[in-house]
Amino acid sequence: MKAVVLFSGGLDSTVLAQQLIQQEASVRLLSIDYGQRHEKELQHSSFIAEKLKVPHRILTLPNLADILGGSSLTDPNIELPEGHYAEESMKATVVPNRNMILLALAAGYALSVDFDTIAYAAHAGDHTIYPDCRPAFANAMETALSLADWKNLDLHRPFVNLTKADLVKNGVELGAPLHLSWSCYAGRKLHCGKCGTCVERKEAFAIAKVPDPTEYEA
Ligand SMILES: [Zn+2]
Repeated sequence: MKAVVLFSGGLDSTVLAQQLIQQEASVRLLSIDYGQRHEKELQHSSFIAEKLKVPHRILTLPNLADILGGSSLTDPNIELPEGHYAEESMKATVVPNRNMILLALAAGYALSVDFDTIAYAAHAGDHTIYPDCRPAFANAMETALSLADWKNLDLHRPFVNLTKADLVKNGVELGAPLHLSWSCYAGRKLHCGKCGTCVERKEAFAIAKVPDPTEYEA
């Protein structure tokens, strides 16, 4: 398999990249600056790529946020919700059609370097809030990708039915550098510990019974 991994620098895509490397796939990591509030994740994506010793590109499209309003991740005027990630209020963190846009960019990259696969790390816990992490979306996207070019592209999404705690367990077993990954949507110096993705990250380590290496704000 030759896979372009949609790589945010978060925990999930870090486990995915490590797993593909272990499976001896050819891997290229693609991170995208879409004007997200937590651009800090891009810095972390570089640290992890360096650690994993795989090619990494950061595509810079910060103006994308201008047309993707209505989300607290792309509009600084919309407050970032705190609390449990499955709460209704977390829908404020949905970026309109983000995964279709990012996967389309990854597909263009994969085709241009003659790769056969795009990989993304959507998992079961994402489905509650993010419509573009649902298995049905991934299936439809794979069909579209197989028609987008004369060459076929597979959409690898091995985690769609796993929980984030499963990913923590897998990550530890694979020796993935989870301590370098960044989840927090607030994007300050340390993880805030209160936003939906921080709560989810903490909970995943607790359920997996793995010591959490993350430094949270007091
Ligand atoms: Zn946070």
